[in-house]
Amino acid sequence: MSDWFTIEKIDDVTYAISEYGHWEKVHSYLLIGKECALLIDTGLGIGNIKKEVDLLTDLPIKVVTTHVHWDHIGGHNLFSDISVHQEDAKWLRNGIPMPIDVIRKNVICQPFIKEAPKEFDINKYNIYTGNPTKELIDNDIIDIGSREIRVIHTPGHSPGHICLWEEEKGYLYTGDLIYIGTLYAFYPSTDPIQFKHSVDKISQLNNIKNILPAHNDLNVSINMVQKVKEAFNSIEKNNLLRQGSGVFKFEDFNIHL
Ligand SMILES: [Zn+2]
Ligand SMILES: [Zn+2]
Repeated sequence: MSDWFTIEKIDDVTYAISEYGHWEKVHSYLLIGKECALLIDTGLGIGNIKKEVDLLTDLPIKVVTTHVHWDHIGGHNLFSDISVHQEDAKWLRNGIPMPIDVIRKNVICQPFIKEAPKEFDINKYNIYTGNPTKELIDNDIIDIGSREIRVIHTPGHSPGHICLWEEEKGYLYTGDLIYIGTLYAFYPSTDPIQFKHSVDKISQLNNIKNILPAHNDLNVSINMVQKVKEAFNSIEKNNLLRQGSGVFKFEDFNIHL
């Protein structure tokens, strides 16, 4: 088997499944419950993520989508139970509003750091479309048996972007809302004002113990939420909270509007 994926244990029943071989350094997460397992995103679609998941659990798998961008739905075709926020559901049904040749260029725009699995062929790389099993709204609870995960609608990076909050453990899966690197709200389908409101919204959560991002370094300090919140406040104060206003550099991260 290819070593495209890196499995890291967050705790005995929670794994990060990472693709460090790709410049985007994407993380998906597997949460093992008593009745089923929850896979948060399915990665880039360069390797077969289902084979990795099958090595970690025999339970039925539910997939939940942080948002419908190509780098987080790459393995959706390998699963049958897929949830997505209702505001991103149309992109899952009808496809992402981005031509496939542009996406293919993005996938390979920087050389891979690890060898891609043999079966990977960029000319056959396609974007999943299909009807979701369930459309989510803010505050929905995903119950996988002795583990409850709350949906927090955090639009801005995409209309139906969600964070997932597991209050009992203090785990916040932040998707593309918070990670170390460049946070993006410059595409036509993004909304910098909503992005700011979403950061404000998650900053209200009490007792976050672990931030689990969808990209880059897994070690994100808890106070990063506060730092990103302050960064957006300063951008807003300077009347620059709008698309096309540029790249703003901060200590551990940038914001590209
Ligand atoms: Zn994204
Ligand atoms: Zn992403």
